[in-house]
Amino acid sequence: MIRDLHNKLINGEITSEKLTEEYFDKIEKKDPEIQAFLSLNKEFALDKARAVDKKIKNGEKVDLLAGIPCGVKDNICISGLPVTAASKVLENYTAPYDAAVIKQLKRFDMVILGKNNLDEFAMGSSTENSAYQTTKNPHDISRVPGGTSGGGAAAVAAHECVWALGSDTGGSIRQPAALCGVVGLKPTYGMVSRYGLIAMASSFDQIGPLAKSVDDAAIVLSRISGKDRKDSTSMPTADKNYEDMLGGADISGLRIGVPREYFARDGLDKGVEQKIKAAIEKYENLGAKIIDINLPKPDLALATYYVIMPSEVSSNMARFDGIRFGQSVGAESEKTGADYTLWDIYFKSRAKYIGPEVKRRIMLGTYALSAGYYDQYYKKAQKVRSLIKREFEEAFQKVDLILGPTSPTPAFKIGEKSEDPLEMYLSDIYTVTANIVGIPAISIPCGTTSVDGKDLPAGMQLMGKWFDEETLLNAAYVFEKS
Ligand code: GLN
Repeated sequence: MIRDLHNKLINGEITSEKLTEEYFDKIEKKDPEIQAFLSLNKEFALDKARAVDKKIKNGEKVDLLAGIPCGVKDNICISGLPVTAASKVLENYTAPYDAAVIKQLKRFDMVILGKNNLDEFAMGSSTENSAYQTTKNPHDISRVPGGTSGGGAAAVAAHECVWALGSDTGGSIRQPAALCGVVGLKPTYGMVSRYGLIAMASSFDQIGPLAKSVDDAAIVLSRISGKDRKDSTSMPTADKNYEDMLGGADISGLRIGVPREYFARDGLDKGVEQKIKAAIEKYENLGAKIIDINLPKPDLALATYYVIMPSEVSSNMARFDGIRFGQSVGAESEKTGADYTLWDIYFKSRAKYIGPEVKRRIMLGTYALSAGYYDQYYKKAQKVRSLIKREFEEAFQKVDLILGPTSPTPAFKIGEKSEDPLEMYLSDIYTVTANIVGIPAISIPCGTTSVDGKDLPAGMQLMGKWFDEETLLNAAYVFEKS
């Protein structure tokens, strides 16, 4: 998709200005229903598009991403534009600087159409936790697009942008990608700088692409990865052009592990399971070696995630206290004459502007970190995290990739799980492990399954070795092409 558009741009078949206008038209037509965007950036986008057109006209060489319209999740800072994290606490907040990924991408002249909806502070699995709007799944608007990068996934699926930037702490790129039938890649922890991404759980968060094809995802990854001095956890990675490596390697002999524990589960939808099994067969036909493996039960990873993640959330959310960051009841008191103490401002601002799911996690995390419970919960979960990591290290002695479902179910109905947080948390059962362990993982479409007379996308997940995005993307690409 990106390559085709790029070729059209440089051959003069289309201009970036025209293309950008077309996408804004689509957004105008479809987004009142889909609600994938929280804010648009029309003037800047068209200015950028014209600048790219000028470069092309002058015979300058432009990048593959140049002039191609994209969306950015609204928890990633772009200087001068609003960044809300879909929370009331950041309503009217303007980012004072560019996130590292944005700074890098701007060098390649991508056109940013606007900011995509998400669950508040990226906590959720359906985008229903946004304080502003509920994004709809373009395949069936009575259903959720998944979350938390549901805005980006829906926008790509509804052709409201060519690709989108998302963030993944426990599955937020992959699960919505699966539910919307697009490609979503969570890179290895440390591959992409987190500087300028509003932190959720810092030891899990990674930025990555949502796209229409594996090739598109690879193109974006090559341009956002690498060491950044402003994020001490980012790693120096070899300057690779992942898109040029696709299809180059033969996958015959590739060892793909299939964990038994991922299938013998009640919660796994039969339709999804069938598609994953068909994908396994396809890989076998393509010459890959399918190997039965044992991994820790995914339930264990989920429990570990839901102790460590809220602990980090409680710490990261402390800055939104109405003094340092965020909307403040203090500002209102000037109008109403209310006489608030500092404590009042902390308590009342957080009570008023932070949504229920975020509050739940702050409380869970504060509890898990509190004296007396720290050893029992947080420390124990960290130990289990190490054990899970070790099991994966062992598994990767035997296999090159691990294959399974991305989400246990296809897209569920809006409202179906929003009253039951635990039910919602189960949506992440297959995705959180990659974040716990830090490995790269991709979700790619593997067919559809019929629910209530509608064909809903099913997604398959491939997990790879640390910093081996090359093997991961190549295997995904070969499947996609076949
Ligand atoms: N759904 C998961 C959660 O609510 C993952 C969120 C994410 O990856 N940002 O924690």
